[in-house]
Order: sequence, then structure tokens, then C-alpha cells
Amino acid sequence: MTNVYNFCAGPAMLPVEVMKQAQQEFLNWQGCGSSVMEISHRSKPFVQLAEQAEQDLRDLLAIPDDYHVLFMHGGGRGQFAAVPLNLATQGQAADYLTTGSWSSAALTEANKYVVANEVAKARQIDGLWAVPEQSAWQVNNNAAYFHYCPNETVDGIELPDLPDVSAPIVADMSSCILSKPIDVSRYGLIYAGAQKNIGPSGLSVVIVKKDLLKGPQASTPAIFDYALQGKEGSMYNTPPTYAWYLAGLVFQWLKKQGGVNAMEAHNRAKAELLYQCIDDSDFYRNQVAKPYRSRMNVPFQLANPSLDAQFLKQAEQQGLTSLQGHRSVGGMRASIYNAMPLAGVQALTEFMREFERSMG
Ligand code: PMP
Repeated sequence: MTNVYNFCAGPAMLPVEVMKQAQQEFLNWQGCGSSVMEISHRSKPFVQLAEQAEQDLRDLLAIPDDYHVLFMHGGGRGQFAAVPLNLATQGQAADYLTTGSWSSAALTEANKYVVANEVAKARQIDGLWAVPEQSAWQVNNNAAYFHYCPNETVDGIELPDLPDVSAPIVADMSSCILSKPIDVSRYGLIYAGAQKNIGPSGLSVVIVKKDLLKGPQASTPAIFDYALQGKEGSMYNTPPTYAWYLAGLVFQWLKKQGGVNAMEAHNRAKAELLYQCIDDSDFYRNQVAKPYRSRMNVPFQLANPSLDAQFLKQAEQQGLTSLQGHRSVGGMRASIYNAMPLAGVQALTEFMREFERSMG
């Protein structure tokens, strides 16, 4: 579409084919004479679109029938509150594994509604971030659920294995959903803000096992009541219709690419290329222990941080945009979600080598 490879962590780039289709039918969707964003969410064509998107997501992740799939407002942070409100009674205990910024923020929010217990937190060993072995976790046997973030977007820390715990597992998959196959039946609840691997911001997807919904806490806002939203087909209130439409296009695009199996191979190839480039040089470094390196968000630092601004400026001139690390950690970060082509990572690694040579 443009000559830019956009490495933004989110809102992130979407597949070019999807953007072109959206552009083409922007003013006149399916010949109805209006944009899809201008029609009622309760109209037959929109309900059909909504059902198709849900079905495509169910197909992509093989979501069992005893799970609701909800299309909600409020982003990832909205779910930080909705999860405890729906899955635990007031003041009940819930376990949180904190492996970076987002799971820590989830714990802080949850403490308003439940007693959130930090079972373990990521720490640096010999300068590299790692997650303590599960045998060292302080798990609470009475926890209503166990919350974790399989991929920490800011810190670039990914957990390779599903935790082995008895409480229902809640996973914040905002930055890794649809990047590889998962066994949904092993989770109680999965949620994700859309703006990385699903579509534009404004939408969050929740996949929740129906029998975990025993009634929300009394103060739960109705729009965050999972059982109610499930009953109403996520249309208790007006859903983010345009974001839902675009998510549907992304799901169809994913199916055409070969689904999550194809994405897993695609994402592994990109990540290997980038980490190899970092590891081959003393000029760049990544501070995450190898087993926990993220395939989606690759933070890296220049050994000489005084060159950061120059690196970012020259990268931008080459059409490699949004490489600045999160404001809380600095350095660089390349987010390489499903929509990032291999050619984008190739262009980035070529630039990195060239930049290093030029600073020789
Ligand atoms: N969780 C994760 C893993 C995220 O990456 C983000 C946002 N980048 C959030 C939660 C918060 O999402 P939102 O800004 O949509 O509330």
C-alpha cells in the first residue's frame, strides 16, 4: 500500500489486502449504498457479518461450543476489571503471575475487586529477564482463577508453556492471539484487545467457558457482564461495528493464509531472523533469556544508547517506522505480528547491519 514497514506495537499494521478491501467497500458495503459503519448493528446484513466473524474465529482457534465468543468494548484494560468482576466473588482470592508491565497492571486493577495474589514475577538473572520455574510459584489453592499474560508486549517476554495449575486459566493474549495454534479447552478465559493481531482498536475479544459464569459481582457494569453479553450476542449495547467488520476481514485473510499453523511458521521465521541479527553482533542486544523471547515483540538496545536517535531517524528514512521502545523502557522494539511480512523483517535486519557498519 505504501513503502513503509510499520513496526508499531499497537495499534499495529493490518494486512494490506484487508485494508484494500475495506477501502474499496468503504462507501458502499455490499451494494447497500451505505458504509458498513452507517448501518444498524441489528440489521440482517450486519448480524450476518457478526455471526460469520464469530464462526471464522471459532474455526481458526477450534473454539469448543461450550465457550462464549464475545466482541466487546474497553480494550485490554477493560478486561483487567471485567475478569475479576465476572469470575470471582467480592474479596475472593485470584492468582496472578506477573511477567511484565501488562500482567502487573492487570494485578493492580484486579485488587479493586478481589484479593490478587502475585504467585511469582519475572526477574533478571545475569542481566537477562526470565520467569521463575513453576515449582517456585506461590500458588493459592483457593484462587478463583489464575491470570497470566503469555506475551508481554512491552518487555518482549513470552511464556513457552501453559502453566500447570488447577484453577481456571485466564490469559491476556492481546499481543499473541492467532499467532499459533492453542488448545482453547485448557483455558477458562482468553481475552485480547484487537489492535495487534485482530483489527483496529476499540474492540476486544473474550473467549470464556460458559460454566465459569456463576453471576458477576453486584457492581459489575452491565456492558461487562459476560453472561449477559453472551445471551445478547455481544449486542446488549451497540458494539464497535466497524472494528468488528474489520476483524471479520482479518479472520478471512487468516484462513486464506492457512490459519494459525501457517502463522506459527511465518512468525517463527521472522523472529529467528531478527534475533539472529541481534545475536550476531555486539552492537545490538536483547535482554530476555532465550526460552522467554517473544516472537511478536522484539525489544533490543544499542550497546551505545547515544546512537538511538540516529538509528531511529535513519530507519524512518528507510521506511522502517515506529521502532522506538515503549516509553517506560526505552531502546528499540520491533513488533512483528501476523500482518508483518517476512520482507519487512528482512529490510529491518539489512538496515541494522548497514547501520552498524556505518558506525564502524
Ligand atoms: N494487555 C496487553 C498484553 C497489551 O499489550 C495491552 C496494550 N498494548 C493491554 C493489555 C492494554 O490494552 P488497551 O490499551 O486496549 O486497554
